[in-house]
Amino acid sequence: MAKRVKGPMVIVGAGLTGGTAAKELRKQGYADELLILAEEPSFPFGRPPLTKGYLRGEEDLSGWMVAPPDWYKAHQIQFVPARVAGVDPAAKQVHLESGDAIGYARLLLATGGRNRHFDAPGSSLPGVHQLRTIAECDGIKRVAKTGARAVVVGSGFIGSEVAASLRQLGLKVTSIMRGKAPLDAVLGAEVGGVFGAIHRAAGIELVVADEVVRFEGSLRLERVVTKKGRRIACDLAIVAVGIEPNVEIVKGSGVATRDGILVDATCRTNVAGIFAAGDVANHLHPIFGRARVEHYNNAEKMGAAAARSMLGSRTAYRYMHSFWSDQFEHKLEYLGHAPKWDRLVIRGSLAERKFVGFYLQAGKLRAAVGLNRGGDPELDKNGELAKAGRLIAKGARPAPRLLADEDADLESL
Ligand SMILES: Cc1cc2nc3c(=O)[nH]c(=O)nc-3n(C[C@H](O)[C@H](O)[C@H](O)COP(=O)(O)OP(=O)(O)OC[C@H]3O[C@@H](n4cnc5c(N)ncnc54)[C@H](O)[C@@H]3O)c2cc1C
Repeated sequence: MAKRVKGPMVIVGAGLTGGTAAKELRKQGYADELLILAEEPSFPFGRPPLTKGYLRGEEDLSGWMVAPPDWYKAHQIQFVPARVAGVDPAAKQVHLESGDAIGYARLLLATGGRNRHFDAPGSSLPGVHQLRTIAECDGIKRVAKTGARAVVVGSGFIGSEVAASLRQLGLKVTSIMRGKAPLDAVLGAEVGGVFGAIHRAAGIELVVADEVVRFEGSLRLERVVTKKGRRIACDLAIVAVGIEPNVEIVKGSGVATRDGILVDATCRTNVAGIFAAGDVANHLHPIFGRARVEHYNNAEKMGAAAARSMLGSRTAYRYMHSFWSDQFEHKLEYLGHAPKWDRLVIRGSLAERKFVGFYLQAGKLRAAVGLNRGGDPELDKNGELAKAGRLIAKGARPAPRLLADEDADLESL
């Protein structure tokens, strides 16, 4: 079927989503014209090592490429360095910033997200960094020398992973966060508290329930100033306060947006022939409802699902969302999607940093987190997290007492 679909297929964005979609289109037998319009200079790759092994100088990015650079040419994929300025569905064209226009038969918007603008005074001083691209990571690596003093602003996944890596590199690290512990907004106070203890034990100073209001320095960054009046001398600061989805290119096109580009369960936007996937896509998930997630596994799986939809598939994308985080010697795995929950049940030990936590909303299991326990749900299909995933998928309402009980087989709940 795929061989009969006429192109050109155009993908905007050469991140993990765009690259995976291109690979899937070819895998499914689509043989006509295929273009990737890429603002970033690198071929599609996974960003996780930018806060971890690559940042610490322990690995290069070769193991994280979606495909080797020569794969694209070998598969007749035109890799066009260009920034797309707008979409014109009536003419079935995208407009490039250069003024050129490129026609499409089907269009995938895989524009991801950009670092959220942080407009505290002094944020443009040399020494203040953000982190999403290889260039930004290389910029941090150049100044992240043993003994340097770093301030990390924000303690979500990027902030807490960067703080851990900089500490491992021997920097003096201060983390400033609005909440009471790293990750507490996503994982709750109990699990956040465990990460707080891990970071403190590693020598990171945590400044909690506070926020940065100013960066100061004459020629470059010398200190940050917080709302509560702390003045913290530093050589570099990394601002990690989240991302904003890149939706501007559909402005005025009729493509609906709301916290991202709105797509249905098959990655279709409201405009015929236009699809979206990855960090930018606010999708209708059969289990979780409307969701926009910012995870590697989703970028990969949804990129491929969108490609199949571009070829005519009507199968809903129902991937059980999952992500991971590595900090120091600790491994976190998360499965499901629970932006809100009213009960967290722990199996195992918070104090020993080895547990699975179950997030319930109105009695229904919505997500599970494992710290140093539970297995990788992508690989260990009999692990506790994979079993929890099967409970979530069937809308189970397991008894909290049994969730906490080491002797109760999760599969049976
Ligand atoms: C440092 C870092 C570490 C991470 N670690 C983890 C982790 O450990 N685990 C995990 O699950 N997830 C992790 N993530 C999240 C994961 O990397 C993202 O979910 C994933 O990158 C999303 O891929 P994407 O292709 O949808 O978007 P992006 O990676 O944002 O790629 C979008 C691409 O589109 C391009 N683009 C945007 N607008 C235009 C335009 N107008 N014209 C042309 N091109 C355009 C951008 O330049 C970019 O290259 C991490 C993210 C970062 C930044």
